[in-house]
Amino acid sequence: MLSGVRKVFIPITVALVAGVVQAIGQTRVPTARWPAPQAEAILERTSRTVLAPDLSHLTPGERVAVGKLLEVGRIFQDLYEEQRHRSALTLRASLEKAKDPASRTLLTLYELNQGPIATTLDNKREPFLAVDPAPPGKNVYPWDLGAKELQDFIAAHPDERAPLTHLRHVVRRADAATLARDLALLAKNPALDTLHPGLKARLTRLSRTPNRGTLYGLPYSIAYADQMVRSHELLHQAAAAAEPDDEAFARYLRNRARDLLTDDYEAGDASWIKGRFTHLNAQIGAYETYDDELMGTRAFYGFSLLAVRTDETTALRKALHGVQAIEEALPIDRHRRVTEDIPVGVYDVIADFGQARGGNTATNLPNEGYLVERYGSIILLRVNIMRDPDIYGATDRTWKTAVAGDFEADLTSDSNFQRVLWHVIGHYLGPDTTRTGRSFDATLGSDASLLEEMKADLVSLFAGRELRARGYFTDAQLRSHYASGVYRTLQINKPRREQPYNMMQLMQWNWFLDRGVLRFDRGTSKLSIDYATYHDAVRDLLKEVLALQDSGDKAKTTAFVDRWGTWDENIHGKVAAAIREQQRTRFRLFEYAALK
Ligand SMILES: [Zn+2]
Repeated sequence: MLSGVRKVFIPITVALVAGVVQAIGQTRVPTARWPAPQAEAILERTSRTVLAPDLSHLTPGERVAVGKLLEVGRIFQDLYEEQRHRSALTLRASLEKAKDPASRTLLTLYELNQGPIATTLDNKREPFLAVDPAPPGKNVYPWDLGAKELQDFIAAHPDERAPLTHLRHVVRRADAATLARDLALLAKNPALDTLHPGLKARLTRLSRTPNRGTLYGLPYSIAYADQMVRSHELLHQAAAAAEPDDEAFARYLRNRARDLLTDDYEAGDASWIKGRFTHLNAQIGAYETYDDELMGTRAFYGFSLLAVRTDETTALRKALHGVQAIEEALPIDRHRRVTEDIPVGVYDVIADFGQARGGNTATNLPNEGYLVERYGSIILLRVNIMRDPDIYGATDRTWKTAVAGDFEADLTSDSNFQRVLWHVIGHYLGPDTTRTGRSFDATLGSDASLLEEMKADLVSLFAGRELRARGYFTDAQLRSHYASGVYRTLQINKPRREQPYNMMQLMQWNWFLDRGVLRFDRGTSKLSIDYATYHDAVRDLLKEVLALQDSGDKAKTTAFVDRWGTWDENIHGKVAAAIREQQRTRFRLFEYAALK
Protein backbone atom coordinates (compact mmCIF):
# COMPACT_ATOMS: atom_id res chain seq x y z
CA MET A 1 0.00 0.00 0.00
CA LEU A 2 2.78 2.40 0.81
CA SER A 3 5.94 2.68 -1.15
CA GLY A 4 9.33 4.21 -0.68
CA VAL A 5 10.65 6.06 2.33
CA ARG A 6 7.84 6.88 4.67
CA LYS A 7 9.38 8.11 7.86
CA VAL A 8 8.74 11.63 9.01
CA PHE A 9 11.62 13.41 10.64
CA ILE A 10 11.90 16.77 12.27
CA PRO A 11 14.54 18.75 10.40
CA ILE A 12 17.59 19.51 12.47
CA THR A 13 16.68 22.92 13.75
CA VAL A 14 17.32 25.52 16.33
CA ALA A 15 17.15 25.41 20.09
CA LEU A 16 18.83 26.92 23.07
CA VAL A 17 22.29 25.77 23.98
CA ALA A 18 21.91 23.34 26.85
CA GLY A 19 24.48 24.92 29.09
CA VAL A 20 28.14 25.57 29.41
CA VAL A 21 30.09 22.49 28.44
CA GLN A 22 32.75 21.58 30.92
CA ALA A 23 36.24 22.09 29.59
CA ILE A 24 38.23 18.95 28.96
CA GLY A 25 41.39 20.38 30.55
CA GLN A 26 44.63 18.47 30.86
CA THR A 27 43.33 15.10 32.04
CA ARG A 28 44.63 12.40 29.78
CA VAL A 29 41.82 10.23 28.45
CA PRO A 30 43.31 7.13 26.86
CA THR A 31 40.46 6.65 24.40
CA ALA A 32 40.19 10.23 23.07
CA ARG A 33 41.14 10.92 19.48
CA TRP A 34 39.72 14.40 19.10
CA PRO A 35 41.29 17.39 20.80
CA ALA A 36 39.05 18.86 23.49
CA PRO A 37 37.83 21.92 21.53
CA GLN A 38 36.55 19.73 18.72
CA ALA A 39 34.37 17.70 21.10
CA GLU A 40 33.21 20.84 22.88
CA ALA A 41 32.27 22.57 19.63
CA ILE A 42 29.74 19.84 18.90
CA LEU A 43 28.26 19.80 22.39
CA GLU A 44 27.94 23.58 22.34
CA ARG A 45 25.61 23.16 19.37
CA THR A 46 23.62 20.38 21.02
CA SER A 47 20.44 20.85 23.00
CA ARG A 48 18.68 18.38 25.28
CA THR A 49 15.08 17.29 25.30
CA VAL A 50 13.78 15.35 28.30
CA LEU A 51 10.63 13.33 27.60
CA ALA A 52 8.60 12.82 30.76
CA PRO A 53 4.99 11.93 29.93
CA ASP A 54 2.39 11.55 32.68
CA LEU A 55 1.92 7.82 33.38
CA SER A 56 -0.28 8.13 36.45
CA HIS A 57 -3.23 6.48 34.68
CA LEU A 58 -1.41 3.16 34.20
CA THR A 59 -2.66 0.21 36.25
CA PRO A 60 -0.28 -1.57 38.67
CA GLY A 61 0.06 -4.44 36.18
CA GLU A 62 0.89 -2.06 33.33
CA ARG A 63 3.56 -0.43 35.49
CA VAL A 64 5.22 -3.80 36.00
CA ALA A 65 5.02 -4.36 32.23
CA VAL A 66 6.66 -0.96 31.63
CA GLY A 67 9.60 -1.96 33.84
CA LYS A 68 10.10 -5.24 31.98
CA LEU A 69 9.78 -3.57 28.58
CA LEU A 70 12.36 -0.92 29.50
CA GLU A 71 14.74 -3.77 30.34
CA VAL A 72 14.24 -5.14 26.82
CA GLY A 73 14.88 -1.64 25.51
CA ARG A 74 18.23 -1.48 27.32
CA ILE A 75 19.24 -4.82 25.76
CA PHE A 76 18.33 -3.50 22.31
CA GLN A 77 20.27 -0.28 22.96
CA ASP A 78 23.44 -2.26 23.65
CA LEU A 79 22.79 -4.50 20.68
CA TYR A 80 22.30 -1.56 18.34
CA GLU A 81 25.60 -0.02 19.42
CA GLU A 82 27.31 -3.38 18.97
CA GLN A 83 25.75 -3.80 15.51
CA ARG A 84 27.16 -0.42 14.50
CA HIS A 85 30.71 -0.76 15.84
CA ARG A 86 32.60 -3.77 17.12
CA SER A 87 34.41 -1.72 19.81
CA ALA A 88 31.40 0.34 20.90
CA LEU A 89 30.45 -1.40 24.13
CA THR A 90 34.03 -1.75 25.41
CA LEU A 91 34.61 1.95 24.85
CA ARG A 92 31.35 2.95 26.48
CA ALA A 93 32.16 0.84 29.54
CA SER A 94 35.56 2.50 29.93
CA LEU A 95 34.04 5.98 29.57
CA GLU A 96 31.35 5.15 32.11
CA LYS A 97 33.96 3.96 34.58
CA ALA A 98 36.09 7.09 34.32
CA LYS A 99 34.67 10.00 36.32
CA ASP A 100 36.86 12.86 35.08
CA PRO A 101 35.22 15.74 33.18
CA ALA A 102 36.96 14.85 29.91
CA SER A 103 35.50 11.36 29.94
CA ARG A 104 32.06 12.77 30.86
CA THR A 105 32.21 15.01 27.78
CA LEU A 106 33.19 12.10 25.57
CA LEU A 107 30.43 9.96 27.06
CA THR A 108 27.87 12.64 26.16
CA LEU A 109 29.25 12.71 22.64
CA TYR A 110 29.02 8.92 22.56
CA GLU A 111 25.37 9.05 23.70
CA LEU A 112 24.53 11.70 21.13
CA ASN A 113 25.96 9.53 18.36
CA GLN A 114 25.11 6.13 19.89
CA GLY A 115 28.69 5.06 19.35
CA PRO A 116 32.28 6.23 18.84
CA ILE A 117 31.70 7.83 15.41
CA ALA A 118 30.39 11.40 15.47
CA THR A 119 28.65 13.52 12.89
CA THR A 120 30.74 16.68 12.60
CA LEU A 121 29.47 20.23 12.14
CA ASP A 122 30.20 19.99 8.42
CA ASN A 123 28.17 16.80 8.17
CA LYS A 124 31.02 14.26 8.00
CA ARG A 125 31.31 11.04 10.01
CA GLU A 126 34.50 10.69 12.08
CA PRO A 127 35.68 8.58 15.03
CA PHE A 128 36.19 10.82 18.08
CA LEU A 129 37.62 7.97 20.16
CA ALA A 130 40.73 5.96 19.34
CA VAL A 131 39.06 3.35 17.13
CA ASP A 132 39.01 2.48 13.46
CA PRO A 133 36.22 4.05 11.38
CA ALA A 134 33.22 1.77 10.91
CA PRO A 135 33.11 0.05 7.50
CA PRO A 136 29.92 0.62 5.44
CA GLY A 137 28.44 -2.71 6.55
CA LYS A 138 29.22 -1.95 10.21
CA ASN A 139 29.38 -4.97 12.50
CA VAL A 140 26.72 -7.13 10.84
CA TYR A 141 29.21 -8.18 8.15
CA PRO A 142 32.83 -9.30 8.56
CA TRP A 143 34.77 -6.07 9.31
CA ASP A 144 36.98 -6.49 6.22
CA LEU A 145 34.25 -7.54 3.77
CA GLY A 146 33.65 -5.32 0.72
CA ALA A 147 30.58 -5.21 -1.50
CA LYS A 148 32.42 -6.81 -4.42
CA GLU A 149 33.60 -9.84 -2.48
CA LEU A 150 30.08 -10.43 -1.16
CA GLN A 151 28.44 -9.99 -4.57
CA ASP A 152 30.99 -12.29 -6.25
CA PHE A 153 30.45 -14.93 -3.58
CA ILE A 154 26.65 -14.77 -3.97
CA ALA A 155 26.98 -14.99 -7.77
CA ALA A 156 29.13 -18.12 -7.40
CA HIS A 157 26.85 -19.64 -4.71
CA PRO A 158 23.26 -18.76 -5.68
CA ASP A 159 21.87 -21.26 -3.12
CA GLU A 160 23.32 -19.07 -0.35
CA ARG A 161 21.65 -15.89 -1.61
CA ALA A 162 18.71 -16.00 0.83
CA PRO A 163 20.68 -16.21 4.10
CA LEU A 164 23.38 -13.85 2.77
CA THR A 165 20.88 -11.11 1.91
CA HIS A 166 18.30 -11.69 4.65
CA LEU A 167 16.93 -8.67 6.55
CA ARG A 168 17.79 -10.35 9.88
CA HIS A 169 20.93 -12.41 9.27
CA VAL A 170 24.55 -11.43 9.91
CA VAL A 171 27.22 -12.49 7.42
CA ARG A 172 30.19 -14.47 8.77
CA ARG A 173 33.50 -15.84 7.47
CA ALA A 174 33.61 -19.65 7.75
CA ASP A 175 36.83 -19.91 9.76
CA ALA A 176 37.17 -22.63 12.40
CA ALA A 177 36.88 -20.37 15.45
CA THR A 178 33.78 -18.53 14.22
CA LEU A 179 31.98 -21.74 13.30
CA ALA A 180 32.87 -23.36 16.63
CA ARG A 181 31.45 -20.33 18.48
CA ASP A 182 28.17 -20.40 16.51
CA LEU A 183 27.79 -24.17 16.97
CA ALA A 184 28.37 -23.72 20.69
CA LEU A 185 25.53 -21.14 20.80
CA LEU A 186 23.18 -23.68 19.21
CA ALA A 187 24.30 -26.39 21.65
CA LYS A 188 23.72 -24.04 24.58
CA ASN A 189 20.20 -23.10 23.36
CA PRO A 190 18.32 -26.24 22.24
CA ALA A 191 15.14 -24.19 21.67
CA LEU A 192 16.95 -22.12 19.05
CA ASP A 193 18.32 -25.28 17.45
CA THR A 194 14.73 -26.59 17.16
CA LEU A 195 13.43 -23.30 15.73
CA HIS A 196 16.11 -23.27 12.99
CA PRO A 197 15.93 -26.74 11.41
CA GLY A 198 18.94 -27.61 9.23
CA LEU A 199 21.14 -24.82 10.60
CA LYS A 200 23.27 -27.03 12.83
CA ALA A 201 23.84 -29.50 9.97
CA ARG A 202 24.86 -26.66 7.64
CA LEU A 203 27.34 -25.16 10.13
CA THR A 204 28.72 -28.64 10.94
CA ARG A 205 29.29 -29.28 7.23
CA LEU A 206 31.12 -25.96 6.85
CA SER A 207 33.27 -26.69 9.90
CA ARG A 208 34.76 -29.79 8.20
CA THR A 209 36.59 -27.58 5.69
CA PRO A 210 36.91 -24.18 7.37
CA ASN A 211 37.80 -21.41 4.94
CA ARG A 212 37.89 -17.64 5.50
CA GLY A 213 36.88 -17.12 1.87
CA THR A 214 33.59 -18.93 2.45
CA LEU A 215 30.73 -16.73 3.68
CA TYR A 216 27.59 -17.80 5.49
CA GLY A 217 24.47 -16.08 6.77
CA LEU A 218 23.50 -16.58 10.41
CA PRO A 219 20.09 -15.57 11.86
CA TYR A 220 20.19 -12.67 14.32
CA SER A 221 18.49 -14.92 16.91
CA ILE A 222 21.61 -17.14 16.91
CA ALA A 223 24.18 -14.36 16.49
CA TYR A 224 22.62 -12.51 19.44
CA ALA A 225 21.28 -15.63 21.20
CA ASP A 226 21.81 -14.54 24.80
CA GLN A 227 20.15 -11.16 24.25
CA MET A 228 17.19 -12.65 22.35
CA VAL A 229 16.58 -15.43 24.87
CA ARG A 230 16.62 -12.90 27.70
CA SER A 231 14.32 -10.52 25.76
CA HIS A 232 11.93 -13.42 25.10
CA GLU A 233 11.73 -14.08 28.81
CA LEU A 234 11.19 -10.40 29.68
CA LEU A 235 8.46 -9.99 27.04
CA HIS A 236 6.62 -12.95 28.53
CA GLN A 237 6.89 -11.40 31.99
CA ALA A 238 5.58 -8.10 30.61
CA ALA A 239 2.71 -9.96 28.90
CA ALA A 240 1.74 -11.71 32.13
CA ALA A 241 1.68 -8.41 34.00
CA ALA A 242 -0.32 -6.56 31.33
CA GLU A 243 -2.77 -9.35 30.51
CA PRO A 244 -5.51 -8.67 33.09
CA ASP A 245 -5.91 -5.09 31.77
CA ASP A 246 -4.99 -5.53 28.11
CA GLU A 247 -5.24 -8.98 26.61
CA ALA A 248 -4.55 -7.82 23.04
CA PHE A 249 -1.28 -6.19 24.10
CA ALA A 250 -0.25 -9.32 26.01
CA ARG A 251 -0.92 -11.48 22.94
CA TYR A 252 1.17 -9.14 20.80
CA LEU A 253 4.07 -9.28 23.27
CA ARG A 254 4.04 -13.10 23.28
CA ASN A 255 3.96 -13.30 19.50
CA ARG A 256 6.81 -10.82 19.26
CA ALA A 257 8.77 -12.76 21.90
CA ARG A 258 8.62 -15.81 19.64
CA ASP A 259 9.44 -13.69 16.54
CA LEU A 260 12.70 -12.65 18.20
CA LEU A 261 13.75 -16.32 18.30
CA THR A 262 12.84 -17.02 14.66
CA ASP A 263 13.55 -13.67 12.93
CA ASP A 264 10.18 -14.01 11.18
CA TYR A 265 8.02 -11.11 12.42
CA GLU A 266 4.71 -11.98 10.71
CA ALA A 267 2.86 -13.18 13.82
CA GLY A 268 3.89 -10.22 15.95
CA ASP A 269 3.32 -7.69 13.16
CA ALA A 270 -0.18 -9.04 12.48
CA SER A 271 -1.20 -8.82 16.15
CA TRP A 272 0.49 -5.42 16.43
CA ILE A 273 -1.32 -3.91 13.43
CA LYS A 274 -4.70 -5.51 14.06
CA GLY A 275 -4.71 -5.32 17.87
CA ARG A 276 -6.41 -2.50 19.77
CA PHE A 277 -4.40 -1.75 22.88
CA THR A 278 -5.54 0.10 25.98
CA HIS A 279 -2.75 2.22 27.46
CA LEU A 280 0.55 1.00 26.06
CA ASN A 281 2.16 0.23 22.73
CA ALA A 282 5.69 -0.75 21.74
CA GLN A 283 7.77 -1.00 18.60
CA ILE A 284 10.02 -4.00 19.21
CA GLY A 285 12.65 -5.46 16.92
CA ALA A 286 14.97 -4.95 13.98
CA TYR A 287 13.11 -3.07 11.23
CA GLU A 288 15.05 -0.25 9.59
CA THR A 289 18.00 -0.72 7.24
CA TYR A 290 19.38 2.85 7.13
CA ASP A 291 22.55 1.83 9.01
CA ASP A 292 23.57 -0.83 6.46
CA GLU A 293 25.53 1.24 3.97
CA LEU A 294 27.10 -1.83 2.35
CA MET A 295 24.00 -3.54 0.93
CA GLY A 296 21.08 -1.61 2.46
CA THR A 297 19.44 -4.91 3.43
CA ARG A 298 20.21 -5.43 7.14
CA ALA A 299 17.84 -4.23 9.83
CA PHE A 300 19.19 -2.74 13.05
CA TYR A 301 17.58 -3.15 16.48
CA GLY A 302 15.29 -0.49 17.88
CA PHE A 303 12.68 -0.25 20.60
CA SER A 304 10.06 2.41 21.41
CA LEU A 305 7.80 2.29 24.44
CA LEU A 306 4.73 4.46 23.99
CA ALA A 307 1.75 5.56 26.08
CA VAL A 308 -1.58 5.87 24.26
CA ARG A 309 -3.31 9.26 24.39
CA THR A 310 -6.78 7.74 24.59
CA ASP A 311 -8.99 10.78 23.99
CA GLU A 312 -6.99 12.07 21.05
CA THR A 313 -6.77 8.62 19.50
CA THR A 314 -10.54 8.15 19.79
CA ALA A 315 -11.22 11.56 18.24
CA LEU A 316 -8.81 10.79 15.44
CA ARG A 317 -10.35 7.41 14.63
CA LYS A 318 -13.76 9.13 14.52
CA ALA A 319 -12.49 11.76 12.09
CA LEU A 320 -11.31 8.98 9.81
CA HIS A 321 -14.86 7.75 9.32
CA GLY A 322 -15.29 10.28 6.54
CA VAL A 323 -12.02 9.46 4.81
CA GLN A 324 -13.78 7.80 1.84
CA ALA A 325 -15.29 11.18 0.90
CA ILE A 326 -11.80 12.67 0.67
CA GLU A 327 -10.70 9.77 -1.56
CA GLU A 328 -13.70 10.34 -3.86
CA ALA A 329 -12.88 14.05 -4.13
CA LEU A 330 -9.27 13.50 -5.26
CA PRO A 331 -8.62 14.91 -8.76
CA ILE A 332 -8.42 11.59 -10.60
CA ASP A 333 -11.09 9.46 -12.29
CA ARG A 334 -10.59 6.20 -10.40
CA HIS A 335 -10.99 5.65 -6.68
CA ARG A 336 -10.37 2.90 -4.23
CA ARG A 337 -12.30 1.65 -1.25
CA VAL A 338 -10.38 2.98 1.78
CA THR A 339 -10.48 1.15 5.08
CA GLU A 340 -11.97 3.39 7.75
CA ASP A 341 -10.18 1.31 10.34
CA ILE A 342 -6.67 2.70 9.76
CA PRO A 343 -4.58 1.66 12.79
CA VAL A 344 -3.45 5.14 13.71
CA GLY A 345 -2.87 6.32 17.25
CA VAL A 346 -1.60 9.34 19.17
CA TYR A 347 1.18 8.54 21.63
CA ASP A 348 3.61 9.92 24.13
CA VAL A 349 7.09 8.48 23.82
CA ILE A 350 8.08 6.97 27.19
CA ALA A 351 11.52 5.90 25.93
CA ASP A 352 13.27 5.09 22.65
CA PHE A 353 16.24 2.78 22.22
CA GLY A 354 18.76 1.96 19.50
CA GLN A 355 17.69 2.62 15.95
CA ALA A 356 14.35 4.08 17.13
CA ARG A 357 15.97 6.75 19.33
CA GLY A 358 15.70 10.33 18.11
CA GLY A 359 13.35 13.06 17.05
CA ASN A 360 11.17 11.38 14.48
CA THR A 361 7.57 12.53 14.71
CA ALA A 362 5.72 9.54 13.27
CA THR A 363 6.43 5.88 12.69
CA ASN A 364 4.87 3.76 9.98
CA LEU A 365 5.70 0.04 9.98
CA PRO A 366 6.28 -2.65 8.81
CA ASN A 367 8.31 -2.07 5.66
CA GLU A 368 8.06 -5.52 4.10
CA GLY A 369 5.59 -5.34 1.20
CA TYR A 370 3.95 -8.73 1.77
CA LEU A 371 3.13 -7.86 5.38
CA VAL A 372 1.70 -4.46 4.45
CA GLU A 373 -0.43 -6.10 1.77
CA ARG A 374 -1.84 -8.67 4.20
CA TYR A 375 -2.29 -6.63 7.36
CA GLY A 376 -1.88 -2.94 6.47
CA SER A 377 0.56 -0.85 8.48
CA ILE A 378 0.49 0.82 11.85
CA ILE A 379 0.86 4.58 12.30
CA LEU A 380 2.28 5.87 15.57
CA LEU A 381 2.11 9.65 15.97
CA ARG A 382 4.74 10.66 18.53
CA VAL A 383 3.02 13.70 19.87
CA ASN A 384 5.19 14.68 22.84
CA ILE A 385 8.05 15.09 20.35
CA MET A 386 5.88 16.91 17.83
CA ARG A 387 4.61 19.36 20.46
CA ASP A 388 7.72 19.65 22.61
CA PRO A 389 7.94 23.40 23.36
CA ASP A 390 11.70 23.58 22.86
CA ILE A 391 11.62 21.73 19.54
CA TYR A 392 8.61 23.75 18.44
CA GLY A 393 10.36 26.95 19.52
CA ALA A 394 13.05 26.23 16.95
CA THR A 395 10.42 25.61 14.29
CA ASP A 396 8.67 28.84 15.17
CA ARG A 397 11.87 30.89 14.90
CA THR A 398 12.51 29.40 11.46
CA TRP A 399 8.96 30.30 10.42
CA LYS A 400 9.21 33.87 11.63
CA THR A 401 12.51 34.26 9.80
CA ALA A 402 10.97 33.23 6.49
CA VAL A 403 7.57 34.98 6.39
CA ALA A 404 6.37 38.57 6.50
CA GLY A 405 4.98 39.97 9.77
CA ASP A 406 1.30 39.45 8.89
CA PHE A 407 1.81 35.69 8.75
CA GLU A 408 4.08 35.15 11.75
CA ALA A 409 1.27 33.94 14.03
CA ASP A 410 -0.26 31.52 11.52
CA LEU A 411 1.90 28.50 12.31
CA THR A 412 1.12 26.48 15.47
CA SER A 413 2.49 23.23 16.88
CA ASP A 414 -0.96 21.70 16.49
CA SER A 415 -0.99 22.60 12.79
CA ASN A 416 2.26 20.73 12.25
CA PHE A 417 0.74 17.75 14.05
CA GLN A 418 -2.36 17.88 11.82
CA ARG A 419 -0.26 18.17 8.68
CA VAL A 420 1.84 15.14 9.60
CA LEU A 421 -1.26 13.19 10.59
CA TRP A 422 -3.06 13.82 7.30
CA HIS A 423 0.16 13.22 5.39
CA VAL A 424 0.33 9.70 6.83
CA ILE A 425 -3.36 9.16 6.07
CA GLY A 426 -2.59 10.50 2.59
CA HIS A 427 -0.48 7.43 1.91
CA TYR A 428 -3.67 5.37 2.22
CA LEU A 429 -5.47 7.47 -0.45
CA GLY A 430 -5.06 7.71 -4.22
CA PRO A 431 -3.89 4.95 -6.54
CA ASP A 432 -1.38 2.43 -5.17
CA THR A 433 -0.43 1.06 -8.60
CA THR A 434 -0.34 2.44 -12.15
CA ARG A 435 -3.52 2.18 -14.22
CA THR A 436 -2.22 -1.07 -15.69
CA GLY A 437 -1.55 -2.52 -12.24
CA ARG A 438 2.25 -2.15 -12.11
CA SER A 439 4.08 -1.03 -8.98
CA PHE A 440 5.41 2.51 -8.74
CA ASP A 441 8.87 1.21 -7.82
CA ALA A 442 9.02 -0.92 -10.97
CA THR A 443 7.90 1.86 -13.32
CA LEU A 444 9.25 5.04 -11.72
CA GLY A 445 12.40 3.74 -10.02
CA SER A 446 13.97 6.06 -7.51
CA ASP A 447 11.40 8.82 -8.17
CA ALA A 448 8.57 6.58 -6.93
CA SER A 449 9.13 7.67 -3.34
CA LEU A 450 9.43 11.36 -4.35
CA LEU A 451 5.98 11.24 -5.98
CA GLU A 452 4.47 9.17 -3.18
CA GLU A 453 5.71 11.59 -0.50
CA MET A 454 4.58 14.57 -2.54
CA LYS A 455 1.14 13.02 -2.97
CA ALA A 456 0.86 12.47 0.78
CA ASP A 457 1.86 16.09 1.49
CA LEU A 458 -0.69 17.40 -1.02
CA VAL A 459 -3.53 15.12 0.12
CA SER A 460 -2.98 16.49 3.61
CA LEU A 461 -3.44 20.06 2.36
CA PHE A 462 -6.20 19.13 -0.09
CA ALA A 463 -8.24 17.56 2.74
CA GLY A 464 -8.24 20.89 4.59
CA ARG A 465 -11.33 22.33 2.89
CA GLU A 466 -13.35 19.13 3.51
CA LEU A 467 -12.19 19.03 7.14
CA ARG A 468 -13.32 22.64 7.58
CA ALA A 469 -16.72 21.84 6.05
CA ARG A 470 -17.16 19.01 8.53
CA GLY A 471 -16.26 21.22 11.47
CA TYR A 472 -13.07 19.27 12.20
CA PHE A 473 -11.11 22.50 11.60
CA THR A 474 -12.11 26.06 12.50
CA ASP A 475 -11.25 28.86 10.04
CA ALA A 476 -8.16 29.62 12.10
CA GLN A 477 -7.08 25.98 12.11
CA LEU A 478 -7.49 25.72 8.35
CA ARG A 479 -5.32 28.79 7.91
CA SER A 480 -2.70 27.24 10.21
CA HIS A 481 -2.90 23.97 8.29
CA TYR A 482 -2.08 25.90 5.13
CA ALA A 483 0.73 27.78 6.91
CA SER A 484 2.18 24.45 7.98
CA GLY A 485 2.12 23.35 4.34
CA VAL A 486 4.24 26.41 3.50
CA TYR A 487 6.59 25.73 6.42
CA ARG A 488 7.11 22.23 5.03
CA THR A 489 8.49 23.61 1.74
CA LEU A 490 11.27 25.72 3.32
CA GLN A 491 14.85 24.47 2.88
CA ILE A 492 18.08 25.25 4.70
CA ASN A 493 20.25 24.07 1.79
CA LYS A 494 19.85 23.39 -1.91
CA PRO A 495 18.56 19.79 -2.02
CA ARG A 496 20.45 17.10 -3.87
CA ARG A 497 18.49 15.47 -6.69
CA GLU A 498 18.56 12.11 -4.85
CA GLN A 499 16.89 13.52 -1.71
CA PRO A 500 13.21 12.73 -2.34
CA TYR A 501 11.77 14.63 0.62
CA ASN A 502 13.70 17.84 0.09
CA MET A 503 13.22 17.78 -3.68
CA MET A 504 9.46 17.42 -3.50
CA GLN A 505 9.30 20.15 -0.86
CA LEU A 506 11.26 22.48 -3.13
CA MET A 507 8.92 21.59 -6.01
CA GLN A 508 5.91 22.61 -3.91
CA TRP A 509 7.66 25.84 -2.97
CA ASN A 510 8.16 26.64 -6.67
CA TRP A 511 4.58 25.70 -7.54
CA PHE A 512 3.27 28.03 -4.83
CA LEU A 513 5.46 30.86 -6.15
CA ASP A 514 4.30 30.21 -9.69
CA ARG A 515 0.63 30.17 -8.70
CA GLY A 516 0.83 33.30 -6.57
CA VAL A 517 0.14 31.44 -3.30
CA LEU A 518 3.58 32.68 -2.24
CA ARG A 519 5.12 36.01 -3.10
CA PHE A 520 8.80 36.75 -2.41
CA ASP A 521 9.70 40.33 -1.50
CA ARG A 522 13.20 40.99 -2.83
CA GLY A 523 13.61 43.96 -0.51
CA THR A 524 12.94 42.18 2.78
CA SER A 525 13.66 38.59 1.54
CA LYS A 526 10.37 37.51 3.19
CA LEU A 527 7.51 35.40 1.89
CA SER A 528 3.83 36.44 1.86
CA ILE A 529 0.92 34.02 1.53
CA ASP A 530 -2.35 34.33 -0.41
CA TYR A 531 -4.64 31.82 1.29
CA ALA A 532 -7.52 32.47 -1.17
CA THR A 533 -5.69 30.73 -4.02
CA TYR A 534 -4.27 27.95 -1.84
CA HIS A 535 -6.76 25.12 -2.26
CA ASP A 536 -6.95 25.35 -6.05
CA ALA A 537 -3.16 25.46 -6.38
CA VAL A 538 -2.85 22.34 -4.23
CA ARG A 539 -5.60 20.56 -6.17
CA ASP A 540 -3.90 21.28 -9.50
CA LEU A 541 -0.50 20.08 -8.36
CA LEU A 542 -2.05 16.98 -6.82
CA LYS A 543 -3.78 16.30 -10.13
CA GLU A 544 -0.40 16.30 -11.90
CA VAL A 545 1.19 14.01 -9.31
CA LEU A 546 -1.68 11.52 -9.41
CA ALA A 547 -1.59 11.50 -13.23
CA LEU A 548 2.13 10.68 -13.18
CA GLN A 549 1.58 7.84 -10.69
CA ASP A 550 -1.37 6.61 -12.75
CA SER A 551 0.66 6.52 -15.96
CA GLY A 552 3.91 5.27 -14.45
CA ASP A 553 5.64 7.38 -17.10
CA LYS A 554 9.28 7.71 -16.04
CA ALA A 555 10.32 10.22 -18.72
CA LYS A 556 7.42 12.55 -17.89
CA THR A 557 8.21 12.25 -14.18
CA THR A 558 11.85 13.20 -14.77
CA ALA A 559 10.75 16.21 -16.82
CA PHE A 560 8.28 17.20 -14.07
CA VAL A 561 10.99 17.05 -11.38
CA ASP A 562 13.40 19.02 -13.58
CA ARG A 563 10.74 21.65 -14.33
CA TRP A 564 9.75 22.30 -10.71
CA GLY A 565 12.91 21.35 -8.79
CA THR A 566 14.91 24.46 -9.69
CA TRP A 567 16.88 26.48 -7.16
CA ASP A 568 17.22 30.25 -7.43
CA GLU A 569 19.99 31.67 -5.21
CA ASN A 570 18.17 35.00 -5.17
CA ILE A 571 14.98 33.50 -3.73
CA HIS A 572 15.50 30.06 -2.18
CA GLY A 573 19.13 30.81 -1.40
CA LYS A 574 18.22 34.04 0.43
CA VAL A 575 15.55 32.39 2.58
CA ALA A 576 17.81 29.40 3.33
CA ALA A 577 20.69 31.64 4.37
CA ALA A 578 18.42 33.60 6.71
CA ILE A 579 17.18 30.38 8.32
CA ARG A 580 20.73 29.04 8.75
CA GLU A 581 21.82 32.36 10.17
CA GLN A 582 19.41 32.20 13.13
CA GLN A 583 19.99 28.50 13.88
CA ARG A 584 21.60 28.09 17.27
CA THR A 585 21.77 24.33 17.59
CA ARG A 586 22.57 21.52 15.22
CA PHE A 587 22.08 18.39 17.32
CA ARG A 588 19.61 17.20 19.89
CA LEU A 589 20.14 14.70 22.69
CA PHE A 590 17.01 12.92 23.92
CA GLU A 591 16.66 11.84 27.54
CA TYR A 592 13.84 9.91 29.16
CA ALA A 593 12.46 10.43 32.66
CA ALA A 594 11.46 6.74 32.77
CA LEU A 595 15.14 5.73 32.61
CA LYS A 596 16.41 7.97 35.40
ZN1 LIG B 1 5.23 9.95 4.02
